[in-house]
Amino acid sequence: MSTSPTRIVMKFGGTSVADLDRIRAVAARVKEERDKGHQVAVVVSAMAGVTNRMVGYCHALDPMADAREYDAVVASGEQVTSGLTAIALQALGVPARSWQGWQIPFRTDEAHGKARIEDVEGAALLACMEQGVVPVVAGFQGVAPDQRISTLGRGGSDTSAVAVAAAIKADRCDIYTDVDGIYTTDPRIVKKARKLERIAFEEMLELASVGAKVLQTRSVGLAMKEKVRVRVLSSFAPMTEQSGSLVVDEDEIMEKELVTGIAYSLDEAKISVRRIPDRPGIAAAIFSPLTAARVNVDMIVQSVGSDGMTNMTFTVGKADQARALAALEAESDVIQYGEIQTDSDVVKISVVGIGMRSHSGMASTMFETLAERGINVQVISTSEIKISVLIAAEYMELAVRALHTAYGLDAD
Ligand code: ADP
Ligand code: ASP
Ligand code: MG
Repeated sequence: MSTSPTRIVMKFGGTSVADLDRIRAVAARVKEERDKGHQVAVVVSAMAGVTNRMVGYCHALDPMADAREYDAVVASGEQVTSGLTAIALQALGVPARSWQGWQIPFRTDEAHGKARIEDVEGAALLACMEQGVVPVVAGFQGVAPDQRISTLGRGGSDTSAVAVAAAIKADRCDIYTDVDGIYTTDPRIVKKARKLERIAFEEMLELASVGAKVLQTRSVGLAMKEKVRVRVLSSFAPMTEQSGSLVVDEDEIMEKELVTGIAYSLDEAKISVRRIPDRPGIAAAIFSPLTAARVNVDMIVQSVGSDGMTNMTFTVGKADQARALAALEAESDVIQYGEIQTDSDVVKISVVGIGMRSHSGMASTMFETLAERGINVQVISTSEIKISVLIAAEYMELAVRALHTAYGLDAD
């Protein structure tokens, strides 16, 4: 009886393809999996630093650069690495070819700069693999309905990899990065962070959405929907010496912790609209123009009014700050604010865990721990399995470490 070969997707992030030696190492790793008899499809990011440089070029010319041209520029990083990786594979005697997003095709919506995948055609990739050729897919990019190149938002190659895995019905999607798994918090910040053998989709989704950039949020949502088995592991450690971390369904996790992890995000800016009339409709007057300007608002707090006046404070992505201010200033006649203050030296710290659904007192641990360190909480928001606070950016490391200890997450 013959069994069909295991089909795997191997995704390599920026630091894993940072220079030619790293690309050679990636090719060797792909060859290793292929020599075991597996069918392999590869997805690559741009070389470390390249996307940042491209984004910098666009914004230096125009902070509100045309999103279609921005995509044409920033997608180039992945085009380079897909070609280089194919060349490195060929040099090892492994037949390989590069695939750009439009060639597959990888169809997205029209939201240039942060496009959503609508459909990925698996047929061409499968035919390529059937012929014994390793497809090397340029991550991060697709083609929009206007037939122009689109990109999937920062960190989007993770989502490309999961989408490819779903399209070719892969048995696994291995995400190779610069850490050997998913930890209770960023292991670069907290040395005592603990590696999680398994994490539930929902928890990873929440952690990613509040800043744990080890996986792009959309990649987790897509894996959950398409039932793709995602594993995170290091491209620096030998394959035989690591198990990585698996993202799984909640019922596949034996020991459930109250708190799974802590994340931080330096990507937000705080905006306070001060001395506004305390009247019905004032929230709509502030937030409707922001929605119209495609600004996502995250945390919100309205202070208790006095003398018919109140203040509204909220956070937006740092990248949207200029657009948010312009939208509010354009409506100054309607909102009738006294002044607008902004602060981008802030960090959002979030504690995530499924256990929060059933346990009370989780928030007070957070507030007490921060109070003991003299850290002022500026804004608070909660969801079913998460509590977030906004604090001054300078306390980021102190707060994450203290909370990691307070919630009993430190490794022995
Ligand atoms: P890549 O370029 O491979 O996509 P990223 O930089 O996007 O890599 O993501 C990996 C980084 O995510 C790690 O270097 C680590 O600093 C950070 N990170 C943040 N939170 C976590 C976490 N909970 N577990 C592991 N890594 C995390
Ligand atoms: N190169 C892109 C970025 O830096 C996509 C990715 O690495 O996932 O955001
Ligand atoms: Mg990434």
